[in-house]
Amino acid sequence: MTFTAAAAEQEFALNVCAGIAELAESNRFAAATPDLVRAILDGVASLAEGEWAPLNHKGDIEGAHIGSDGKVVLPDGFRKAYQAYVEGGWNSLYGPVEYGGQGLPMSLAVCVLETLATSNMALSLNPMLSVGAIAALHHHGSDAQKEKYLHRLVSGEWCGTMNLTEPQAGTDVGALRTAATRIEDGPNAGKYLISGQKIYITWGEHEVSDNIVHLLLARTPDATAGSRGISLFIVPKYHVNEDGSLGERNDLRVVSLEHKLGIKASPTCVMSYGDEGKCIGEIVGAENAGLRAMFTMMNDARVHVGTQGLALAERAAQAALAYSTERVQSARAGAPTKTPVPIIEHPDVRRMVMRIRALVEGGRTLVYYGCGQLDRGALGDEQAQVRGEVLVPLVKSWCTDMGVEVTSLAVQIHGGMGFIEETGVAQYYRDVRITPIYEGTNGVQAADLVGRKLGMENGGVVKALLADIAADCSDAPNIAALAKDCAEVADWMLSSASLDDKLAASVAFQRMCAVAVAGWQLTRQSRAAQADGAPGSLARTKPLVARYFHDHIVPEAQGLKVSAMTGADLLYDLDAQSLTA
Ligand SMILES: Cc1cc2nc3c(=O)[nH]c(=O)nc-3n(C[C@H](O)[C@H](O)[C@H](O)COP(=O)(O)OP(=O)(O)OC[C@H]3O[C@@H](n4cnc5c(N)ncnc54)[C@H](O)[C@@H]3O)c2cc1C
Repeated sequence: MTFTAAAAEQEFALNVCAGIAELAESNRFAAATPDLVRAILDGVASLAEGEWAPLNHKGDIEGAHIGSDGKVVLPDGFRKAYQAYVEGGWNSLYGPVEYGGQGLPMSLAVCVLETLATSNMALSLNPMLSVGAIAALHHHGSDAQKEKYLHRLVSGEWCGTMNLTEPQAGTDVGALRTAATRIEDGPNAGKYLISGQKIYITWGEHEVSDNIVHLLLARTPDATAGSRGISLFIVPKYHVNEDGSLGERNDLRVVSLEHKLGIKASPTCVMSYGDEGKCIGEIVGAENAGLRAMFTMMNDARVHVGTQGLALAERAAQAALAYSTERVQSARAGAPTKTPVPIIEHPDVRRMVMRIRALVEGGRTLVYYGCGQLDRGALGDEQAQVRGEVLVPLVKSWCTDMGVEVTSLAVQIHGGMGFIEETGVAQYYRDVRITPIYEGTNGVQAADLVGRKLGMENGGVVKALLADIAADCSDAPNIAALAKDCAEVADWMLSSASLDDKLAASVAFQRMCAVAVAGWQLTRQSRAAQADGAPGSLARTKPLVARYFHDHIVPEAQGLKVSAMTGADLLYDLDAQSLTA
C-alpha cells in the first residue's frame, strides 16, 4: 500500500473540488495554505504507513476481546498507535481554536480521517467518533461543559462515543428506553441518574485514553413518546472534578463485545448504565431537545462514514491494480503469440480496473466537494450550507455502496486468492460492509434525501444543484442529460408522487444524484488536469478516467429513471405473507 499516490489525489480533490485555496482566503481558514496542506498530507501518510497500516491485518486476526479482569483488550500496538496520533496533534486539526484546536476546514480533517481509515479502519473509528462528539458539544454544550470536556477531547487525551442504539431502537431511535431522572438534592443536584442498556457502541470501552466521554440519548420520566421526547447527556467513564482532574469511576460498564464480520479490532460494546443506581450524567441543552444535538454529531459522522467507504475502496484498489500487473494467466485473445500475459491485459480485467479507478476517483470528488460546501457553510455562506446538507446523504450512501462494490471487484481481480485471507483484500471487503449500515442505513439516507432535503425551499436547493451541473457540463453531455433526468424525477416527486412512491424511488434517485455530482466534479477535474501546470500523470489519466465514468457509470444511473418513476404499487401487490411463504 502506498499512501503517496492517494495523497496526490487528495490534494487534487482539495484544490479542484473543495476549493481549498478559496477557503484559505477567509480569516478563519487562513492557516490552510498550500504548504500546510502538503505538510498535513505528507505527515498523516507517514503516520499511516509507519504506525497504523502495519497493525491492520494483526487487528483483524487478534480482534478485541474482554480479558479476565473485565477490561477490553486490544491487539498489541493499538494503544501506542493511538498515542502517536495524539502526540502528532492530529486529533486537534478540526477542533475549535478556543479549546486548543487548530480550527482547520473540515475538508482537511477528512483527508486525515480518510488516510487513517485506509490504513486501519478499526482504529480510525475511535478518532472519528471523537470528532463528532466534539462538534456536538461545541454546538450544543454549555460554556462550563465545553470548558470541562472539550480541551481534552480536542487534544485526544480523552475519547468520545455516540450512544443511540438499543435492542428495540435501531433505525427507530425514538423507541429508546434508557431512562434519565433529574437529581433534585445533594451535591449532584441538577444532574441526572441514568439507567439502561445500549448496544453496538463503537469504542464504548477501552484503555487507550484516560477517560471516555459518552454522549448518550435517554428519556426523562415525563417525556413524550417518540423522538421528540429524547434528551442528550454527557456520561463520562470517570467523573471530572472541578479542577479538571479525574474523579471516581462512574457506574457504567461494558457487558460484552459483539463478534463481527469485519472491523474486528474495533470494540463494539454492549454497555450497561446504572447497574448500581449510581450512573450520573449531565444534560446537554434542554430536556427533549436531544435529537437535534445528536444530529450535529450524526451529520459529521455520516460524511466520515462515506469517507470510510472511499478509504477502503482506495486500499482495495491499490491491491487489485498491483495484482493485475503481477499475475500472469493466458495469452491475450486474438494475439499473434500464445505467450501468457499479466491479467490486466485481458479486456474483462481492464474493465474491472477502469471501473475501480472511475468509482474511487468519482467518490473522492463527491466527498471533497461536499466538505468544501460545508466549510463554506461554516464561513456563513447559507447557500453552500444547504447544498452541503443535501450532499451529506449522497456522500454517505454512494461512497459506502461504492466501497462495497470496489472491494468486491478487488476480490474478483484476485481470483481464488481474493477469497483467501492472506492477500488482505478479503478483510477490506469484510471491513467495509458495515458502512452502508451504520450511521443511518443507506435506505434511511435516501429517505432523508427525498423527505427533508428535497423539501428544502420546495425543492429549490436540490434543483439549483442539478441546474448548475447541467449548465456546467456542455462538454459532458451524458452528465448534463443525467442532471436533467434527476430534475425530472425531482419534479415528479414534488408534484404527483405519493409518499410511498417517493420512498420506493428514493434509493434510485439518490444514486442518480450522486453519480451526477461525482461525474460533474470529475469533469471539472479533467479540465483542471489538462490546464497548464497540472501535477504529473494526472494530465494524462484524469481525462480518461472521467471519460470512462461518463461512458459507463453515468448511463447505468440514467437507466434508473424508469425504475424510479414506476411508483410503489407493484411492491405491495403481493402481501408480506405471500412474499415470505
Ligand atoms: C459495527 C457496528 C457499530 C455501530 N456503532 C454504533 C455506535 O457507535 N453508536 C450507536 O448508537 N449505534 C451504533 N451502531 C448501530 C447502527 O447505527 C444500527 O445498526 C443501524 O442504525 C441500523 O439499526 P438496526 O441494526 O436496528 O437495524 P433496523 O433498524 O432493524 O433495520 C433493519 C433493516 O430495515 C430497514 N429499515 C428499518 N426501518 C426502516 C424505515 N423506517 N424505512 C425504511 N427502511 C427501514 C433498514 O434500512 C435495514 O435495512 C453500530 C452498529 C454496528 C453493527
